[in-house]
Amino acid sequence: MKIFKFGGASVKDAESVKNVSMVLKSQGFEECLLVISAMGKTTNELEKVVELYFEKNNYQTEIEKIKQKHIEIAKGLFRNDHVAFDEINLFFDDIVSFLRRNKSPNYNFVYDQVVSCGEMISTKIVSEYLNDIQFTNQWLDARDYIKTDDSYRDGNVNWAKTEEFIATLNPSICYVTQGFIGSDDNNFTVTLGREGSDYSAAIFAYCLNATAMTIWKDVPGVMTGDPRKFNNVSLLSNISYEEAIEMAYYGASVIHPKTLQPLQQKNIPFYVKSFVDPTKGGTKVGACEENQHEESYILKENQTLMKISTRDFSFIAEDHMSLVFGYLSKYKIKVSLMQNSAISLALCLEDKFLKIDELNEELQKVFKTDVVKNVSLFTVRNAKMENIGKFYQEKSVLLEQIAKNTLQMVTQ
Ligand code: ADP
Ligand code: ASP
Ligand code: MG
Repeated sequence: MKIFKFGGASVKDAESVKNVSMVLKSQGFEECLLVISAMGKTTNELEKVVELYFEKNNYQTEIEKIKQKHIEIAKGLFRNDHVAFDEINLFFDDIVSFLRRNKSPNYNFVYDQVVSCGEMISTKIVSEYLNDIQFTNQWLDARDYIKTDDSYRDGNVNWAKTEEFIATLNPSICYVTQGFIGSDDNNFTVTLGREGSDYSAAIFAYCLNATAMTIWKDVPGVMTGDPRKFNNVSLLSNISYEEAIEMAYYGASVIHPKTLQPLQQKNIPFYVKSFVDPTKGGTKVGACEENQHEESYILKENQTLMKISTRDFSFIAEDHMSLVFGYLSKYKIKVSLMQNSAISLALCLEDKFLKIDELNEELQKVFKTDVVKNVSLFTVRNAKMENIGKFYQEKSVLLEQIAKNTLQMVTQ
């Protein structure tokens, strides 16, 4: 079985959905499972709904706007009397009634129940459309297959259960399902973290022992830098799993960082290709790929730099580290770069759940801290050391690190 993942950009409007069918035509639509994200920026729009709801502001108007967007897309795909319109209305009625009845004060729980609707409705639309044009497929609720714990907004996959459920799928049928979502033991929806649909596709690929997985993007493949941020970047046509893991880990957002490991474990060939030009080769990521070792650039924005030192100028010792990391784990703050000296520890942090002020408050009870918000982490992979000077020009560098041809700097 092969796995195709189509992200938000590839289903952002009716023309894009039609283009998905062109991609499928060019690739063959047999023994295939499609993982599909929410349409365009729907996830951001649904996040806004949850924010408004918790601020006790008018969220209904925002829901109505999102509903109208989906109805407009459906108008470009279906006859007026198509069942898809009823489904769209029902979905959005459900969100409104869930929020009206909800008593849970747990932001992350409510977030997952609401934000997941973007994937539910987009897969309904795409599945109906493909069936109409004779790409016969069965719609699946991914929450019946991907089982997680109850870490809302950051679900951890229960691999044993997930494998057991996915094993019941029929490999000779074509399926359409959602990225980004699973469910806990009580069958409440749990999302896998923003941009998590690539990861969902890899979970299905792993559990189905897929022959290959392809994610369809608005770029020609994995490039030596994000073409939106860097000039003169080029396509990496072959890279190893390790190189791809490192690039994703450092912040190359074209692949979600959790995607690679399940694929690598089962040696499943992985392609990143353009949905604009599906016949082009794109990037192949695999076990014996000749790694290109091209200099590549990754910019991770919205980071926080935190410098921690002891109040009495004593050394930063293991028990201090253990305390700091305990808090980082408690607040789910990720370390993207770390450097320690005798009396201080510098951390570049990714604060997904906006907990940095709480962390800082806790740490200040014991340590002296210095926090700089809104910094960027710039990484150069396979850096040519003889001319790294160019990267320092016009930048205010707050922290730097060089290890194994990887140059990293925190800049303001
Ligand atoms: P989708 O959500 O539609 O699956 P994403 O927006 O998550 O797709 O990923 C595609 C985007 O990733 C591109 O538009 C590009 O701006 C960005 N990107 C970041 N780093 C790279 C890179 N090294 N190569 C190619 N694209 C990159
Ligand atoms: N729709 C989700 C998001 O925008 C998941 C994904 O697209 O990968 O984060
Ligand atoms: Mg995305």
